[in-house]
Order: sequence, then C-alpha cells, then structure tokens
Amino acid sequence: KEDKKIISNSIRDIKDFPKEGIVFKDITTLLNNKEAYQTLMNHLEERYNSYNLDYVAGIDSRGFIFGAALADRLKVGFVPVRKKGKLPSTTVCEKYELEYGFDEVEIHLDAFPKAKARVLLIDDLIATGGTANAAAKLIKHVNADLVEVCFLLNLTFLDGAKKVREHAPVYSILDI
Ligand code: IMP
Repeated sequence: KEDKKIISNSIRDIKDFPKEGIVFKDITTLLNNKEAYQTLMNHLEERYNSYNLDYVAGIDSRGFIFGAALADRLKVGFVPVRKKGKLPSTTVCEKYELEYGFDEVEIHLDAFPKAKARVLLIDDLIATGGTANAAAKLIKHVNADLVEVCFLLNLTFLDGAKKVREHAPVYSILDI
C-alpha cells in the first residue's frame, strides 16, 4: 500500500492535453523520480518473478519503458508491439477504433522464437482498452500464450479491461 502511494504521488495530471477536456496522466514525473521508478519496478519484479515468463511485450511507446526494464529484471526477452509502419520485417497487423477514426498496431510474425511462449503484455495506461485489446489479439495470432496483461494505471470508469479480459487476466497497479 505504501508502494502504491509513492507511485501514485509521482504521477501528475495535465489538463487539456492532448485536447481540451482531457486530463492526461503524465508518467514522466514517475520516471525522473528514482524512488518512485524503483518502487514500481520492484513491485512488478516481485509480482512476475514466479510467472515463468519467456517474454515481456510492451505497447508503443510508454509500454516500452516499463516492459524493457521489467524484461531485463526477469532475464527474459522483450518484444515491441508498434504503431503501424515502424517494424521492418514481416508483421501481422490489427486495426482498432479510436474516438475519431482508426489506428493500427503490429508485431513481427516471428517475434516469439520460442514455441508456446509465455508472454506478459504491458502498457502504462488502459483507457477504452482498444489498444491493449488489439495488442492482445496480435500476441494470440502469432501463437504465443498470453499469460496476463498489466497496466500501471486503469481508468476504470471506461471499463476498457472488460474487452481485454476476454484474452487474458488483467492486472493494474492503480485504479482511478
Ligand atoms: P485506449 O486504447 O483507449 O485504452 O488508450 C490507451 C493508450 O493511450 C495507451 O497506449 C496509453 O499510453 C495512451 N493514453 C491514453 N490516455 C493516456 C493518459 O492519460 N496518459 C498516458 N497515456 C495515455
């Protein structure tokens, strides 16, 4: 509980970003606070140490920061799920709906060289769940075993986790 307080106190609200009426959760003030960043990474390491993971997959782009750091701590591989057009080799792609229009995420077809790889998917925040849901589908499409989907922050009033739970259990450190 003390951990969660340290983490939550390090995240700031930015009003009207990127658009008027939106309160953006800014995690840069967690990253530049060594106590908060280490507290978060210790928490994640303790939780996932016993999961026998083969890979951590992170969502573009803040999911890379936590995902790569966690993969290193757990001594497993890291796999990026990227916005369309960024990955150089053969990919699989998943389209998802935004408030206005669509976006697409991709993963390399050969992202998980190990058969039946045990994968944790991670991102900083879940809002509508569209991004994480598409990323979860991709991981299943390439025949990996999606063990859990993890977020630092869950905007629970949007109930985005509901969609993602159809693919795997969802864990969030802070529910807002
Ligand atoms: P969703 O697809 O609606 O769940 O939106 C989640 C995606 O948007 C994640 O990749 C987040 O990094 C990003 N996102 C949405 N709102 C915020 C925010 O307030 N702070 C940081 N990232 C956000």
